[in-house]
Amino acid sequence: MSDDGKDPLGKMFRGNEEFRQTDFVPNITYWKGIVSGQQPKILWIGCSDSRVNPERITGSAPGELFIQRNIGNAVPLQDWNFTTVLEYALMNLKVEHIVICGHSDCGAIKALDIEDSDYYYIPVWLNNAREAKHRVDSQMKKPVTPEEIHDRYQRIEKENVRLQLEHLKAHPLVKKVCRERRIFFHGLYFNIHDGRLTRIE
Ligand SMILES: [Zn+2]
Repeated sequence: MSDDGKDPLGKMFRGNEEFRQTDFVPNITYWKGIVSGQQPKILWIGCSDSRVNPERITGSAPGELFIQRNIGNAVPLQDWNFTTVLEYALMNLKVEHIVICGHSDCGAIKALDIEDSDYYYIPVWLNNAREAKHRVDSQMKKPVTPEEIHDRYQRIEKENVRLQLEHLKAHPLVKKVCRERRIFFHGLYFNIHDGRLTRIE
């Protein structure tokens, strides 16, 4: 898992060779089976955070998850990147399940507390999640101890998943498809402290 930091690309190519020998070649029949096309049943919307790799934390095989990752696992109604992924997933792949996965220690959620920043784009993007912070802060007293501060962030991370599910269900494309067939929505939360993935009710 360690990297000497001197040649990260070299580490990636060595990792690729190891992947070929220990995974690709032994499973060549599976790989040949998916060459002609993908048929994932799940659209996964998650955070870009490098510690939350969807396939790795769920044991999913190539071809099983169609993935959109962005800062703060957001569902931005006005974003073309997001909407094209959603359109392809619903109209072409005809996914049956849509997952929104938040996670602990999310930098996007912490950044909601920064009022003066030198960044141009991130604060605007984070407006997609700001309502989650307002909801949680209106329901609890100001945190003081490290435990209370951590608890507040976890609450906002989870509330943000609920908020993005609301955005998703309000999306015109989703509303259109839901009139034609059943789509299952799932809010999930990955805890980096224990590696556990849980449902958000
Ligand atoms: Zn994150």
